[in-house]
Amino acid sequence: MTEQATKSPPPTVLSVSVRNLVAFVHRDGGLSFAAYSGLTGQIGTQTHQAFYRALRQKASYHQAEEEIALEADWIGPDLVLHVRGRADLLLCSDDLPPKVSVMEVKTVAGPLQDTQLKGETLHWAQARLYAYMLGLPAQSGLSHLPSLQTFAVEAYRRQPVRYSLAYVSSEDLSCRILTREESWAELAAWFAETCQAYLLFAQNQARYNQLRQASIKALRFPFPRLRDGQKAFMTAVLRHLTTRTPLLVQAPTGTGKTLSTLYPAIKALGAGAVDQIFYLTAKSATQTVACGTLQILREQGLLLRSAALQAKEKICLCPECFCDTQICPYARNYYQQVGAAIDEGLANEAIDPALCRELGQKHQVCPFELQLDLATYCDVIIGDYNYVFDPRVRLERFFGSGCQQHHALLVDEAHNLAERALDMYSAVFEEETLLQAAASLQQFLPQALPALAPLQAYLARLREALLKTGAGSGQTSASAWSAVESDLRDAQVLSAPSFAALTQKPRQLLRLLGQFVSGCREWLQDIDELEAKRPVLDLYLQALFFLRVSGEFWSAAYCVFARVNRGKLTLRLACLDVSDKLIQVFRNQHAAVFFSATLTPLSYYNQVFCGLARDDRADSLDLPSPFPPENLKLLVASGIQTTYQERQASAIAVAQALALGVKAARGNCLIFFPSYAYLTQLQPLLLPLLQRVAATVLLQKPSMNEASRAAFLAAFDRPPVNGAYTVGVAVMGGSFSEGIDLLGDRLSGVLIVGVGLPQLGPEREILRQYYDEKSHNGFQYAYLYPGFNKVLQAAGRLIRSETDQGLLLLIDERYTRPDYRQLFPAHWQPVYCESLKELKSNLSSISR
Ligand code: SF4
Repeated sequence: MTEQATKSPPPTVLSVSVRNLVAFVHRDGGLSFAAYSGLTGQIGTQTHQAFYRALRQKASYHQAEEEIALEADWIGPDLVLHVRGRADLLLCSDDLPPKVSVMEVKTVAGPLQDTQLKGETLHWAQARLYAYMLGLPAQSGLSHLPSLQTFAVEAYRRQPVRYSLAYVSSEDLSCRILTREESWAELAAWFAETCQAYLLFAQNQARYNQLRQASIKALRFPFPRLRDGQKAFMTAVLRHLTTRTPLLVQAPTGTGKTLSTLYPAIKALGAGAVDQIFYLTAKSATQTVACGTLQILREQGLLLRSAALQAKEKICLCPECFCDTQICPYARNYYQQVGAAIDEGLANEAIDPALCRELGQKHQVCPFELQLDLATYCDVIIGDYNYVFDPRVRLERFFGSGCQQHHALLVDEAHNLAERALDMYSAVFEEETLLQAAASLQQFLPQALPALAPLQAYLARLREALLKTGAGSGQTSASAWSAVESDLRDAQVLSAPSFAALTQKPRQLLRLLGQFVSGCREWLQDIDELEAKRPVLDLYLQALFFLRVSGEFWSAAYCVFARVNRGKLTLRLACLDVSDKLIQVFRNQHAAVFFSATLTPLSYYNQVFCGLARDDRADSLDLPSPFPPENLKLLVASGIQTTYQERQASAIAVAQALALGVKAARGNCLIFFPSYAYLTQLQPLLLPLLQRVAATVLLQKPSMNEASRAAFLAAFDRPPVNGAYTVGVAVMGGSFSEGIDLLGDRLSGVLIVGVGLPQLGPEREILRQYYDEKSHNGFQYAYLYPGFNKVLQAAGRLIRSETDQGLLLLIDERYTRPDYRQLFPAHWQPVYCESLKELKSNLSSISR
C-alpha cells in the first residue's frame, strides 16, 4: 500500500463563536428588548470599565485581566468544532500559584431585575464555557499576561472551578455578583454535550461550506465581455477587500456597479479574505438589483446563502408593532420556538422578508429577529446602511466589540451616506413628543406628572427666549440659551429668528433628561395600556439617545440647535462631521468599498467618509462613462439667473427656456426644480406653455405614496398622442431624481433649473462655518458639492444604456463658473447659450 493510500483526509474544521454556540444550544424564553434598557455599545463599555476599576481596588484580587481571547476544539465524528470567544474578565488572586476564575459582566439599565438575581441561562452558559476553556493548555490569549505567568492549568483543573456572573447597573454601578463552582471534569462533560447538541447543525453547515467554496472556485464572470472600466473596478475591489483598506469608486451608469463589487467580493469570500459580505443600500430598489445580481450568479452555478433585511415596521407581524413580551405573541417564546424556523429557513439560498414573515407566522416567532438569526449563517447580507453605520440599530452581533470576524462592506449609492450618516449621529428632542407623553401620563399615571414638570418648564423658558431672538431684537444666540443654561462660555455660534445654536453641552438640560430617563423606566413598567405606553416610550427613546449622543459621541464637530417651529420647540444635538464615527466602524477590521455614479469630487467624499488623516484616507478610482459621449446633447442656458433674489425677474425666461427644451427633445421629458417653492412659483407661467407642447404634464407632490409614484412613472410608458409627449415636473433630490430607470424612448430630455444648492438656513451656515475653520472650503462642502450631486443624479436619469440618446438642458448662469465647470463629468460637452435666441437656434439644430 502506498503512503498516499494510507492517508485519511484532514478533518473538516468549523469555527463557531461562543456567542453563537450557546445561543444555538441553550436558548431559552422570550426576546428581551433594548428599547427598555437602552443600552448599547459605548455605555456598556464605559460601565464595564468603571466596574473593573472598582473591582481592582478590592484587596482580594491581585489582577483583573479584560477581554481575554480563549478557544477550544471539540473533535466530533467527522469534524472539528473550533470554538472561540473573549471572556470579559479573568480574576487572579494573590496566591502562588494564583487562583484564577472567569467573570462575565452584563450591564443593566436602571435597577436590577428579578432575572438578574439568579442569572440568565445564556449568560451562565457563556461563563461556564469560558471557565472550561481556561483549563485547556496553550491558550494563546493568556501567554502575554504577566499575572498569569505562574498559572498552572493542572492545578486549575484539580480544584473546584469557580466562575461568576456580574450584573452592573449603568446608573450607579451597583452590582450583583453570582458565583458557582463545579469540577473541571463536569465542565468538560457539559462542553462535550453542548458541542454534541450542535453537531448535526455543524455537519450541515460544514457540508454547505464545502459546496459553497467549490462553487465559488468554479464561478466565472457571467457575461461574455467586460464593460469598459469593469476589469479595473473589480481588480481594485478585490485588492482592497484583501488588504482591508477603504476604497472609493465613482462608476458612471453602465459600468455594472452591482456585479463589479459583488463578484470580486464573493471571490474574496472564497479566498477567506472576508467572512461575510454586507451589501448596503439607501433604497429598497437598489436591494432588489443586488438580489437579482446574486440570482444571475446562482444561475452560473454559485451556491451561496443570502439574506435581504427589511425594517422592523415593515416586516412585523404584530398588529400593534410593539416589541414587548407582554404584548407581542411572536416575542414571548421566541428562543424556544425559533430553532425549527432557523432550520427551515436555512434550507433556502435566498432568504427574503416574505420567507421570514411566512416562517414567523408558521412558528410564531418574530420575523425581524428571525431574519437576523438567519443572517448569522448567510454569506451575503443585503440591507440598509443603518444596520452597519447607525449606532441605534447597528447589528451588534456582527459589529459589536467582541466580534472577531472580517466583513466586506459594499456601500452602494454612497453619495447618500454623507447626509444620512449626519442624521444617524444627531439626536432630536421635541417639545411636541413631550406634550403627548404628558397627556398620556395625565390620563394613566398622573402621579408621574410632577417629575416631568422641570423638563417642561425648561423647554417653555427656552421657547419664550427664542421667540424674542432674531434680527433687530437685540437678542443673541447666547442670551437665548442663558435663559435656561448657566456657565455659558463663548457659546454663541449663530442666531436667526426663532433659532439659536450652542457649541457646548447644555448641562442643565442633560441633567433633567437623566432624571426623566431614570424615572421613566418604572413608569413604563407601570403603564398597562398600550396606547398610553407608546407616547411615553417615544419620549423615553428620544431622551435616551440625546443623552447617549452627548455622552458617547459629542466632540468639537457637534452643535446644539434650538428652533421654534409652529409654536413648538425642537432641540437637535447636530453632528457636523461624521468621518471619525464612520471610520471607527471599519478601521483595522472590515473592508469598506464606497461606490456611486456620482461621487464628485472624490476628495470631498473621501474626507466625509474617512476624514483628513493620511493613514485613514481611502484610495479612489474614477471610471469613465462607457457610453458614447455624443449620445448626450448638453446645452446650458447661461444667460438666466435663478438665485433666490432673481427668481421673480427671470421667471418668464426660465419658463420659455423649458418650453423650448421640451419641444426640441421630441420625446418624454423630466424637468427638475431645486425646491417645491420654486416649482410652485413658476407653475402658473410654466403649465400653459408646457400644455401647448406636451400631451400630459404631471407634477410631483410633496407626499406621494408608492401608488401615486408608480402612476407618475407609468405615464412615461404611454405612446405619444399626435406627436406630443409626457412631461414630468419634479424636484431635485426627490424620488424621481435618482434610482429610476426610464430606458430608451421613455425619456428623451432632462431639464434642470438652478444648481441644486441646499436650502439656506442657519443650520447650513453653521456647517459652512465648521468646514471653513477645518479645511477652508465651507461653501463647497456645505452647499456646492451636495447641491451639484443632486444635479448629477437628476441628469443621470437620461442616458441609461449604450443606445440611449437625449437632451440635457441646464438653466443657470453659475454653470459658466470655473468651480462648477471643473465638476462636470469628462464626457459632458456643453454648449453655452447666452440668450433665448441662441438657445432656440442650438436646440433646433439638435432636433433636426
Ligand atoms: S413581531 Fe413585531 S412587535 Fe413582535 S417582536 Fe417582532 S418586531 Fe416586535
